Amino acid sequence: MSLFESINCICCGKPIMLLDSNLDDYIEHAKKLNKEPEPETWMWNGGAVQKVSAGYGSTNDGDIFYIGICDNCINDNYKNGRLIYDKDYLFSYSKFSEDELKEFERKRRRESNLNKLI
Ligand SMILES: [Zn+2]
Repeated sequence: MSLFESINCICCGKPIMLLDSNLDDYIEHAKKLNKEPEPETWMWNGGAVQKVSAGYGSTNDGDIFYIGICDNCINDNYKNGRLIYDKDYLFSYSKFSEDELKEFERKRRRESNLNKLI
């Protein structure tokens, strides 16, 4: 894998950069832990970076990619139901009210049902 210190948002193209450090620091830290560098665990400024793997049924079956999505696009896409909110892994409470979560789910189901009509 080629390591990277910036990645552009998959939705809008905005750059998402490493936060308060540089690539060599992350590589050195992984070496000290005797682990492979994992960009998805690093601190990114203004967005999220994650590994995505395609499974059976995809023409990309077996491929692993890294994607970045900026905070603005995260916020837009969980509200319109295209990004599915799971939970807050830092705190035991949700930052969203029950009504907000129901609205996100309603929009996700609406889009899913529209897709079935195609
Ligand atoms: Zn974006």
